[in-house]
Amino acid sequence: MPMILMTLLFSGFVLGRIAAGWATHVLTGNSSTKLDRCERCQAPCSIRQRWLGMGAVRCKVCGTRWTVRWPVVSSLLVAMLVTVYAWLLTGLDCQKIAEVQPATAMHLLRLPYHLVFLFLLTVTVLTDLLDYVIPDNVIMLGIFAAVAGATVSGDLQIIHVWVNWDAQVPGLHGPYLPEWMKNHHHLHGLAWSLGGMIVGATFIWLVRGISGWILGQPAMGSGDVTLMAMIGAFIGWQPAICAIAIAPVTAIVAGLVVRVTSGRSFVAFGPYLAVSAVIVLSTWRWIWAEPLLMRDVFSHWPSILGLAAGSLAALAVLLGGLRIFLATPAESIRR
Ligand SMILES: [Zn+2]
Repeated sequence: MPMILMTLLFSGFVLGRIAAGWATHVLTGNSSTKLDRCERCQAPCSIRQRWLGMGAVRCKVCGTRWTVRWPVVSSLLVAMLVTVYAWLLTGLDCQKIAEVQPATAMHLLRLPYHLVFLFLLTVTVLTDLLDYVIPDNVIMLGIFAAVAGATVSGDLQIIHVWVNWDAQVPGLHGPYLPEWMKNHHHLHGLAWSLGGMIVGATFIWLVRGISGWILGQPAMGSGDVTLMAMIGAFIGWQPAICAIAIAPVTAIVAGLVVRVTSGRSFVAFGPYLAVSAVIVLSTWRWIWAEPLLMRDVFSHWPSILGLAAGSLAALAVLLGGLRIFLATPAESIRR
C-alpha cells in the first residue's frame, strides 16, 4: 500500500511538472509565464530549466536569479489530484452504477484513460490561467485520445450513450439496453465519445451566443467551446451537461475565494469547466443514482430538454452577472 501511494504521488508530481513545461512551451514569448526567458536580458531559458526547473531560475547569460512558483504548485496539485482520484475510483467506486458493468480489465483501464484526461486538462487550465489561451493542439490531441480510446476499448464509458429507465425490467440488473449496444461495443464507444463531444461543444457555443446577445460581448472564449468538446469526448454527454450545470456554482465559489484572498480575478471560464468535470467524474455514482437520481432525467426527452434549457438560461445570466461582479474592484467586496 505505501508503495502504491508513493508511486501515485510521484507520477502525479512528474505529470504536473511536465504539464507546466508544456504550458510554458505553448506560451513561449509571453512574459506571464516567466519561465521561457530571462527577466533582465531576455535570453532564452535552457530546456532543462523549462521542463525540470523548480522555483529558482538563474540566467546563464547575465546571472540574474528569479523565482517562478507555479510549476511547483502544478506538480504538488497534480500529485494530490492523481492520488485522491485513484482512491475515489478504485477505493470508493465513485463511478460504479448498475447500468454500466465493464469487464474487470476495462474497469482498470478507466484509471489511465482518466489520467490522460486530467493531464491534458491541467495543461489547458495552466495556459488559460496564465494567458487566457486554450491551445488547439492540446485539445485536438485530447479529442483524438478520447475518441480512439473509447472506440478501441468499447468499454470505457461511465454511462452508456442512452439508458431507458422506463423500460426497466424488475429483478434484472438495471434497465433495458438496446441490442446494438451489447453487440457492437466499439461502435457504441465511438458514438458515446462523439456524442459527448458534440453535446459539450454545442452547449457552450449556445451559452456563448446567448451571453453575447445579453451582454453585447461573449462572456466565454471560443477556446471554452473546444475545451468542452474535449471534456465531453472523455466523459460522455450526460456527465458533460451535469458539469456545465454546476460550472457557475464552481465559478462563483472559486471566483469569490480567489477574489477576496488575493484580490485577483480570473475572468477565464475554462478552469471552472475543468474543475466541474473532475467533480462530476469523482461523484458520478451519487449524481446518476441515489441521491440525485439524474438517471430519471436522462432517460426522458422532455426532462432533458427542460434541464438543457434551464441550464442554458441560468448559465447565460450567471455569466453576465459574474462578468460584472469580477469587473468591480476587490476593495469594494472586502468592505
Ligand atoms: Zn539574463
